Amino acid sequence: MAFREVQVDLGERSYPVVVGRGARARLVGLIPPDARKAAVVTQERIPWSVDTAIEQKTFLIGGDETAKEMATVESLCRGFAEWGLHRGDVVVAVGGGVVTDVGGFAAAVYHRGVAVVHVATTLLAQIDAAIGGKTGVNLPEGKNLVGAFWQPAGVVCDTETLDTLPDRERRSGLGEMAKYRFLGVEGLEDMGLDDAVAACVQAKADVVGIDERESGRRALLNYGHTLGHALETSGSYELTHGEAVGVGMVFAAHLARRLGRVDDARVALHEQLVAGYGLAVRPPRQRRPEDLVALMRRDKKSVNGDLTFILDGPGGLEVVDGVDQRAVEATLAELLS
Ligand code: NAD
Repeated sequence: MAFREVQVDLGERSYPVVVGRGARARLVGLIPPDARKAAVVTQERIPWSVDTAIEQKTFLIGGDETAKEMATVESLCRGFAEWGLHRGDVVVAVGGGVVTDVGGFAAAVYHRGVAVVHVATTLLAQIDAAIGGKTGVNLPEGKNLVGAFWQPAGVVCDTETLDTLPDRERRSGLGEMAKYRFLGVEGLEDMGLDDAVAACVQAKADVVGIDERESGRRALLNYGHTLGHALETSGSYELTHGEAVGVGMVFAAHLARRLGRVDDARVALHEQLVAGYGLAVRPPRQRRPEDLVALMRRDKKSVNGDLTFILDGPGGLEVVDGVDQRAVEATLAELLS
């Protein structure tokens, strides 16, 4: 079967991302040739199994975002040790962004690093989370505050696995897909699923290839995430990641207009795109602006606790430090009213 293949170009650590219906058949070819054991990290509700063609054992983690915590990493690593997973073996993460973030982080730290292959089973993981090597967990103080860069040996985006994805999770993935529109990927709405996934993977691979460690352009992939992460943390994750990012992008557009960077038409485009994917464009009413501002100051992008946002402007997206708190609060008040 012909699958689309995108290369993430990182010199000796380059790897392929195989995209298409049934692409999990290509998993065996992505397992490092010397690995003897594969620790398959997944969740109970994910109805897809994989065949690594070597000795394998399944390690289940909790079914939602709350599993993305340090305790899960410890329990995985203890399970790996008890089973006898060694340095030359492999972790295979089968799931959405929670599984690839936690499984990837456990692989990054177990024995100071074992190979990992991601089999992404949500739209969000296929177009974003499984690619680029960012792994990690949350703390009660905020999202993704502990983690490591750990590139996979390969990624499988089997679009057949999306057949079983609940509607809400599919929409959540579309929230991240909308982000790529503002990073310059055109025509996603008119593409078939496999092409759209491959186009987003290519866009992410291009960015990661030039800025693996997020010292520049890669930060732009966090468009909508400053408020998005604060909404997730303040609401104990009752909003999905993509839902929160959708609201965050619309907020960022309103903030950019208040700061004179974009016009009404650009704000309307944000609202149309996000609403067109069936996602909310306003934060939940019960959130308090002061709590959100405090959380946004803790965002990883923030330097010295300044308010830092990715903002649209005449030259496209850019990282803007030191945004005036009053402008942020006024924009939040406008959207919460
Ligand atoms: P998720 O991993 O929580 O998955 C959503 C739900 O769908 C879960 O209950 C899961 O068990 C279920 N599920 C997964 N695949 C399924 C399938 N094929 N059929 C039926 N059910 C299935 O959510 P997500 O949206 O994939 O990932 C969100 C996480 O990704 C967040 O923690 C976010 O921070 C992270 N993320 C990481 C990066 C990165 O670069 N590392 C980028 C974006 C997002």
